[in-house]
Amino acid sequence: MVLYDIKNATDEELKALIENSANDELLFAAADSVRRSHYGDEVYLRGLIEFTNYCKNDCYYCGIRRSNRQAVRYRLTKEEILKCCRDGYVLGYKTFVLQGGEDPYYTDDMICEIVSKIHSEYTDCAVTLSIGEKSKESYRRYFDAGAERYLLRHETANEAHYKKLHPNCMSGAARKQCLYQLKEIGYQVGTGFMVGSPFQTTEDLIVDLRFMQELMPDMIGIGPFIPHSQTPFSSFVGGTLELTLRMIAILRLMFPYALIPATTALGTIDALGREKGLKAGANVVMPNLSPVKVRKQYELYDNKICTGEESAQCRGCLERRVNSVGYRIVNSRGDVRR
Ligand code: SAH
Repeated sequence: MVLYDIKNATDEELKALIENSANDELLFAAADSVRRSHYGDEVYLRGLIEFTNYCKNDCYYCGIRRSNRQAVRYRLTKEEILKCCRDGYVLGYKTFVLQGGEDPYYTDDMICEIVSKIHSEYTDCAVTLSIGEKSKESYRRYFDAGAERYLLRHETANEAHYKKLHPNCMSGAARKQCLYQLKEIGYQVGTGFMVGSPFQTTEDLIVDLRFMQELMPDMIGIGPFIPHSQTPFSSFVGGTLELTLRMIAILRLMFPYALIPATTALGTIDALGREKGLKAGANVVMPNLSPVKVRKQYELYDNKICTGEESAQCRGCLERRVNSVGYRIVNSRGDVRR
């Protein structure tokens, strides 16, 4: 059966799996069993600090794209970022993810200063960066300062599709090159894509899987595309729960060792989306640690959840959600188990 040998599945077999809902129950059960054999019932926390919504890029799908003049922009100071870490540490977080738009205001020196401060203050924690495409030299500097992980979704591995989602000055090839450079430097690398992004076909999803079979990322973040009203893609339909869950399960079977989050976007399109994501093979949740006053402004897509609560409330809420589907949050760094 293709489910148990999915690494060797042909494109035709993958296509049948992706397009057919009839196998979903078997698929999710198989994914859950693989996940349990690698990670048991453990779910890892990543405290997400969205530290700037300024961005020099103009991705057609993203609410904080440069051309969105209606976005109310903000930047967190080093002190504010450190305060988020302090709050998170008290709540048991052992991983901090600094994510933002590509904002040249933060020079490499500043990023290194922030990273090394967190790294030296919280020696039992991992620092993750998610700040887009940089030079290999910059990536190396962040790594030397103490960043051990980097998240950079490839968005789509098909270059023609990539061009339909981004302005011409951006390329899928450049993005992939960044991912390989991050790997060479020694980061734990996360990549991923949106499910149901405009113009995406089943063939594109298969190309995504093939690309990741080559890259072998440690983390794989996927979530449904959700239209943002102030972008060129405002009138496109979003990705579905069904297809996102199916892709999570396929990823778990293909990459048994991977850290796969049940994303906020998944929780946004369905009230129990994250719980369903966990049951389909996900083993990470990424609650928000950003100050409540800016949360609404990091609006990549419409109706993003968890923008009104304090970090402590998010932690409690997630704990209940994770427990409700038979898993448990563990307060560890949650490193990849290859
Ligand atoms: N600037 C960083 C962080 C990007 S935001 C970088 O370039 O990596 C994190 C992710 O949000 C993106 O990689 C993208 O996949 C996702 N995202 C952006 N807009 C979205 C939308 N409208 N719907 C769903 N996900 C979106």
